[in-house]
Amino acid sequence: MAKEKYPNPKFFRMKDKMDWKRQAENVAEIAEICKEIARETDWKAAGAKHLKGWKDFGLRVADEARAVAKMSGGERLDLLINGEKRLGRLYKAGAMAFTRREWRGVKDTAVDFYYWLDTWKMFLLTFGKDLIPSLNGVLNYRWMISYFCAHSFMDKNCMGLRGEALRMHHIMIYQIYRYVAENIVFLNKADKHGGNSEELSRKIVLLDEMTMAQLMAGFPDLLGIPYQLMPVFLLSEIDQLACIPYLDAVESYGLPADACPVPASECGAAVIDALPICGKCFISSSMPCDGSVMASSFQDRRFKMPTFHLTFPVRYDDEETLECGVEEIKHCIKFIEEQTGAKWSWDAYFTAMKRFNQETSFELEKWDVNKTDHPQLIGPIYELFRKWNYEMDGGLDPRVLPAMKKVNKIMLKAYRKKAEPWRGKMRHRAIVWSVPAHYYANFSNWLANCWGINVLVEMEGLNFTKPLETEDEQGALEDLARLYERMVMRRHTNGGYDHVLTELWRQVEAWRPEIVIMYQHVSCKTMSTLSGLFDEQARERGIHMIWIEHDLMDPRTVSRRAMRAKVNSYMTAVMREEPLDPSLLDFEDDVTW
Ligand code: SF4
Repeated sequence: MAKEKYPNPKFFRMKDKMDWKRQAENVAEIAEICKEIARETDWKAAGAKHLKGWKDFGLRVADEARAVAKMSGGERLDLLINGEKRLGRLYKAGAMAFTRREWRGVKDTAVDFYYWLDTWKMFLLTFGKDLIPSLNGVLNYRWMISYFCAHSFMDKNCMGLRGEALRMHHIMIYQIYRYVAENIVFLNKADKHGGNSEELSRKIVLLDEMTMAQLMAGFPDLLGIPYQLMPVFLLSEIDQLACIPYLDAVESYGLPADACPVPASECGAAVIDALPICGKCFISSSMPCDGSVMASSFQDRRFKMPTFHLTFPVRYDDEETLECGVEEIKHCIKFIEEQTGAKWSWDAYFTAMKRFNQETSFELEKWDVNKTDHPQLIGPIYELFRKWNYEMDGGLDPRVLPAMKKVNKIMLKAYRKKAEPWRGKMRHRAIVWSVPAHYYANFSNWLANCWGINVLVEMEGLNFTKPLETEDEQGALEDLARLYERMVMRRHTNGGYDHVLTELWRQVEAWRPEIVIMYQHVSCKTMSTLSGLFDEQARERGIHMIWIEHDLMDPRTVSRRAMRAKVNSYMTAVMREEPLDPSLLDFEDDVTW
């Protein structure tokens, strides 16, 4: 049997029909903007700032040299082998990038550099498959620029990791980045403002970013792309400041400023035409809350393309509602067939879901290890990987399974050695609950490095794990309905308080944390109604619940620094502890990628 190629190589080869006149006009407009910036720049002040930057650089190098000079022989050897311990040095107030790369010891720095290069290689090869439309994308969409700092996001989230943990994190983020790079190429290639490949556009089914990919496994000739993922959601995780123009745009249309930034940013992106124009149809979902339902209907009007709203029962625990879910899946399949002319293939679907089931069993193995006294695969990249694998990949990409197998092999080796992901920093076990904000703030990584709080799992990772039916068609439709009813953000916010409140205590029993990191999203009304009950029940159980306010992709409401301050005051005032790395206690990273 021929090896399955994913994504279909034909998609990269489809013919572009670039509108060169439009591109030229766009370049001329950008040249005008650049000239205006050059005219308005205070070059003297810019030069002085640059000079100060070099002076600061000199002072920092001298300071670090002095610190090394003061060390004993043993400490220097430890620095050489195990790397640096004062990670706050990597941040500089007002700087977008780290002051330098982290020194992780000879071996791990080499490993880190290898993966860094490998990621660059993958980016270059992927974009090289059809470079010009993506270059046009850089000139058309400001969000494309933020992806140039993808490596910084990777570095930030791997901070402090050593040994097996470092390798596992790199393997996982590579899978996500490859998916992102390929889909950015496709979006730009099919975009009317970019490659304008009508042939590819006819093959694209756009999905709401929270809508799972598994349904597309039955359409191997089509390409499902989570529409807002690259220009909005993932973008905001890589660069938290990137969605602010979307929020401002939609608020200037009259949307109240206290709306959740997730649906608000999605709508704002549509308002300022930040979403590439492509695709045959759009699938939205009855997502977690009224905000996202409103966003679906708003975007529907803006996109002007055939839209199918997946609407699943809210009380999904009741199996009597399953039939409604199954009907919804059937209608959606029919809708895609009618819009694209493609035919649903049970063979293709079952092949992909067999893979997805294997991936789920690998995930459960990770949970088993993390529940022990020697958790191995923890931290923000693992959390992000789980969400991406469950929701966006969904078993469709055959390259992911071998990567997961490799990760689990490394994980079990580390477990046998009783290794620690953040060496010598395991003081507390924690789980993350409510609307997670840790990617923006690199939070679970900071918690481990600064306070030794190791986050074992996060709420959104704890989704549906039942193996999906891969033989019987009716059973498969029922499992698909069950899966979609429990999408990311939907499982916990729909179907009653038991799914989020009582569920927390079930998970606390299973994972045995002393601390619950409770993300209080100030704009999420769905979650805020329960805060009193959470607090009361945590007290009854003797669980430390650290409330951290945030506003997801809007750092103007609550900054990352303010989020960290909440933990700092709890750890010092209530737990009476000293930080493991005082250099990370308080630093300014308002504009840092
Ligand atoms: S965070 Fe809350 S308000 Fe925002 S989309 Fe999710 S459920 Fe809705």
